[in-house]
Parts: sequence; structure tokens; C-alpha cells
Amino acid sequence: MKDSEKLGFFTRQVHAGEIDDPKGSATVPIYQTSTFKFKNADHGAACFSGEEDGYIYTRIGNPTIEALENAVANLERGFGGIATSSGMAAITTVYLAFLGKGKHIVSHNALYGPARSVMETVFARFGVEYSYVDTTDIQQVKDAIRPETTMIYTETPANPTIGISDLKALAEVAHAAGVPLVVDNTFCSPYLQRPIELGADVVVHSMTKFINGHADIVAGMIVAADEKNYNLIRPVMVNMGCNMDPHQAYMVHRGLKTLGIRIEKAQESARKVAEYLENHPKVAWVKYPGLKSHPQYELAQRQMDGPGTMISFELKGGLAAGKTLMDNVEMILLAVSLGGVESLIQHPASMTHSKISHEKKLEAGITDGLVRFAVGIENAEDILADLDQALAKV
Ligand SMILES: *Cc1c(COP(=O)(O)O)cnc(C)c1O
Repeated sequence: MKDSEKLGFFTRQVHAGEIDDPKGSATVPIYQTSTFKFKNADHGAACFSGEEDGYIYTRIGNPTIEALENAVANLERGFGGIATSSGMAAITTVYLAFLGKGKHIVSHNALYGPARSVMETVFARFGVEYSYVDTTDIQQVKDAIRPETTMIYTETPANPTIGISDLKALAEVAHAAGVPLVVDNTFCSPYLQRPIELGADVVVHSMTKFINGHADIVAGMIVAADEKNYNLIRPVMVNMGCNMDPHQAYMVHRGLKTLGIRIEKAQESARKVAEYLENHPKVAWVKYPGLKSHPQYELAQRQMDGPGTMISFELKGGLAAGKTLMDNVEMILLAVSLGGVESLIQHPASMTHSKISHEKKLEAGITDGLVRFAVGIENAEDILADLDQALAKV
């Protein structure tokens, strides 16, 4: 695609990454192969030495996967994409690329759970040190940086508290310390937020969520802003074997093409749901970046192209109320995850965060009545009606 940087987001989400297929296929075919034939010994040698661009083995590179990598890197305005088997594979690959024995990470205390627990249970065994602070407060990040710090990591809006970290300010702090800023952009997708434009060095995604968008695939992506970090991270993915499968890449690429329209539709409903909840007598508070009551409303307006589709709210009735609500929704699915076409609801205190100590739960802002709601693309009135009948039983 020529001059793709100048084209609009919707055009690029449809066409970025497309290839000139020799048989004229309108979509990128699924190259369901583990290995590739060389033309002769010299060609094989040239592929291995890097003198010639050619495919060798699918863990190293595959045309179907590469098309998706190019598409997501284009949308994120980065240098290159590195597709992985899952979002967690993307995160652990980046940890492995930047951390080591005696090295230190400054990270957000309200992260996606496994992104924190893998650090505390696995990486710690290999001598990696960590500080979990509230990255919505820049001073806490500055104070946590040590001479051994080699990366700053955040997620915004954060899961499940919807706290927003200032990416421009964090990038300045990271660069002053000579370390990369890594951002988990899963909750926004490049349609709503492009961390690289704000100074981030690496973006990670669980494409399981918005980018694939149909709740039928687990997948991840790393986008490096520049060639140096791309060349540092790519071999880690290849050698650790965190690669995507060609069929998985095809499915995600198919989902990607409607990313913006799916988010627009769900976001329109999310605004209505957030307002409805804010006025509901059984709800103590609602956190949604599109509500003026959100503590970082101004920052959200500046940093994001829209408030998104994720809403957190606190039920006055605590744990029991949360469970009752979960047991009474009908159309809305009681399930974890987000970013799919269907509306999903979950209760962190009894589900995703049930194994975390009470102390750590409070530190991460997870209260007993907290409900996380991922708005889908169904009709807003049907979503509201289902919530209304379930809340009536609380
Ligand atoms: C789901 C999720 C992940 C993990 O992704 P998987 O694809 O499930 O491995 C990481 N970060 C965020 C914000 C997520 O929501």
C-alpha cells in the first residue's frame, strides 16, 4: 500500500499489511506450513545469512503472520510488529528482552493480574527486581527508579480500576532515566490510543480482545517504535517459541478490519450504560473515562480518541450484591475478557482477583462490590434492559 501513513485509520485497518498475492487472492492466504522450500543451496544459504529476504521456518517468519504484524504496526505508527501466541506471551517476551538478573522494573500496581504475578513468581526466581507503584502518579514512578532500572511498564486505562496514566509524562521520565517505556494498549487498541505517538518505545497487546474482537482467538502482538528495539525483541520471541500460528493470524487479521466500527458502536452504548449506572440508586460510583466524574477526565480527553467500552462500578451491597447481579443477567454473558462483539460482565472480588490477598486487592483498588462491564455491539436498549432487570433483583 503506497503512502499508507497519509491514509485514514479505517482505510489502513482494511488495507495495511495486504500482499500482492501471485494467485490474486483478495485476502492474505493462510500459509499453513511449518517450513519453506529453498530454490537451491545458494538460496538457502542467502536466506539464513539474511542477504536475501525469504521465509525459512514459521517460528521465524510466515507470510500470513507477517501481514498481520505489518498491519498492526502501521495502525500503532510503529516500526515493526512481532506477533505472539497470546497477550501474555507478548508481555513475557518484552520482560525477557529488557530484564535480567539484578535488573529492575518499575510497573503499575493495578495491572492485568498475570502480568504482575508472572513477575513476582517466575521472573523473581531469576533475580529480577520490581517496584509496583501507582503510575497514574508520576512522582511515585520517579521515586521508584534505581540505577538498575531497565524498563518502565504501564497499562492505561488499567484493569480493572480504569485509572489513567499520563503516557507523555511517563515517556519523559523513562527517557530521562535512559530506559524504555512499555505500554499495554489492550484496553484502547490503536483506534483509541497510540502510545508511540506519545513517546512510548514498545506497545503490547492482547489481540484476544478488541483487535480480534470476536471472542474466538487468543493472540498477542508487540509493536516496537524503532528498529533497535525491534531487533532486540524479535529474536527473543523466535528463540523462546512464543510465535503465532498462521491460522490464528488469519482470524485476527479478519477481525482487525472492522476494529474501528466495532469500537464506535460499543462506545456509543457504553456512554449510555455509564450514565444509567451513575444514576442508579444501588450503585455507589461508576468509573468510565467518558464521565466528568472520572478523576482523570481531562487527561482521558487529551490522550485518548474516545472513552472506550470498559466500565467499572461499585455496588453498594458489596460481595453479595455482586454475586446476585452476576446470577441474574440474561443476555449479557457472565465471563471474563473484553473487546468482543458480546457484552460481558464479571465480578473481580469473587472471580479474577479472588486468589489475591485482601491487602493487595485494596492496593489495586479492587473492592468487594466492584463490577467490570465490557460493553458489546448489541442494541443499547437491550443491554440497558438486561442490566435493569438484574439490578432490580440485587
Ligand atoms: C487479556 C489481557 C492480557 C493477556 O492477554 P492473553 O491474550 O489472555 O494472554 C494482557 N493485558 C490486558 C490488559 C488484558 O486485558
